[in-house]
Amino acid sequence: MTDALATGRDGAVTNWAGNITFSARELHRPASPSALRALVAGSRQVRVLGSGHSFNRIADVDGGAADTALLSLAALEPSIDVDTAARTVRVSGGVRYAELARHVASHCLALPNMASLPHISVAGSVATGTHGSGNGNQSLAEIVRAVELVTADGETHVLNRGDDGFDGAVVSLGALGVVLALTLDLEPDYTMSQHVFGELPLADLDFDAVTSAAYSVSLFTDWRGPRFNQVWLKRRGAAAVDFPWAAPVSEPRHPVPGMPAVNCTEQLGVPGPWHERLPHFRAEFTPSSGAELQSEYLLPREHALAALHALDTLRDQVAPVLQVCEVRTVAADTQWLSPAHGRDTVAFHFTWVPDATVVLPVVALVEERLAPFAPRPHWGKVFGADPAELGARYPHAADFAELAQRMDPQGKFRNAFVRSFVHPFLPPTTRLHRTR
Ligand SMILES: Cc1cc2nc3c(=O)[nH]c(=O)nc-3n(C[C@H](O)[C@H](O)[C@H](O)COP(=O)(O)OP(=O)(O)OC[C@H]3O[C@@H](n4cnc5c(N)ncnc54)[C@H](O)[C@@H]3O)c2cc1C
Repeated sequence: MTDALATGRDGAVTNWAGNITFSARELHRPASPSALRALVAGSRQVRVLGSGHSFNRIADVDGGAADTALLSLAALEPSIDVDTAARTVRVSGGVRYAELARHVASHCLALPNMASLPHISVAGSVATGTHGSGNGNQSLAEIVRAVELVTADGETHVLNRGDDGFDGAVVSLGALGVVLALTLDLEPDYTMSQHVFGELPLADLDFDAVTSAAYSVSLFTDWRGPRFNQVWLKRRGAAAVDFPWAAPVSEPRHPVPGMPAVNCTEQLGVPGPWHERLPHFRAEFTPSSGAELQSEYLLPREHALAALHALDTLRDQVAPVLQVCEVRTVAADTQWLSPAHGRDTVAFHFTWVPDATVVLPVVALVEERLAPFAPRPHWGKVFGADPAELGARYPHAADFAELAQRMDPQGKFRNAFVRSFVHPFLPPTTRLHRTR
């Protein structure tokens, strides 16, 4: 259940990384669905905070006036209902992947993929298009088959896969309503093994061959040289892995050079359950806050090598403010606002030092260098572009704006971040500005 929302100095609500202090004066934790409905119906503006692992103002309310509500589902009774015959699970809005995965595995079923950290909430993750890695693996939102939402009028609406508007309702940026529950497709249980390899030069890199070498591949670099420091291969089953481009490491590694690997999922090819290998970090280790900022850019996979070489020209600027950069692949999906929508994708992730003053100028340089490749920034991470500029990068942005307007005509669930993205697609008469 989501309950690690940080409360910073003076009782202010902050995100996990502590770089965002939310405008809301308090975090509402309704204890029953009826209390939640009443709060939604009685508030001028509502936003939901999941586990607070985003790095920007996507979850915030505007200004923090008394009739705005930032709410958490942490006090609602959590539920995870597995239907073994249908191979589906219905999971309530506050549940995190760690609990979901354990429960699903106890029914000998599995998720196809997970993000690097298992402590993020399911609803918050799919709302931003969160992904893991793998040439054949889609974003986590793609296995959602039904969304149950409390909308602006306090009523519950269910959208099922195939319904009009469903493709906009999962990666929704929290703009359609409060996600009370999601139903996900599952697959049979599987074991995995994780192998870590050492240095892989950028020169002569066969990107497609390397990222095809396992079910899920992550390439890590500190950009202190034209090479990856580590390659993590997650393979289904227990077979040995063939990776001719780099040498296997002999001890467990943390992605950030020099950090102890004790909190990382088991490596060295030891087979184990899927949910103890897919994330990079162990579920039993829960970091309550993070000394880092993150950015990520997703672009068509065919540009992977050109983008890597473009970033290589920024090594002197990037390396001093970087903890680690991770390169992953994501298969094209159908969610209108997924950064991997409609294109097989390469994702360039940056874990920065926790100092926005030195990081933001470098973020701007990275965005400038990646601009020719039409990157879509991760919705939940630090980026420089105004969300208003991003509509052109999503072929269904106008459809999403129309859906948001249809489900929430008064814009109750639209904060400044969402309005900036949606409003260019709405007729001026419907662009309600709800800030005071
Ligand atoms: C250490 C770390 C590792 C990460 N690893 C990855 C990774 O491997 N891959 C990746 O793609 N991303 C990764 N992320 C980013 C992360 O997955 C996203 O920021 C994700 O949105 C976090 O989920 P959350 O529940 O914390 O969402 P929040 O930050 O709380 O909210 C995100 C959005 O979801 C909405 N939302 C949340 N819950 C609900 C709900 N019940 N109803 C309606 N709207 C809701 C919020 O309003 C907001 O718009 C990582 C982040 C961290 C801190």
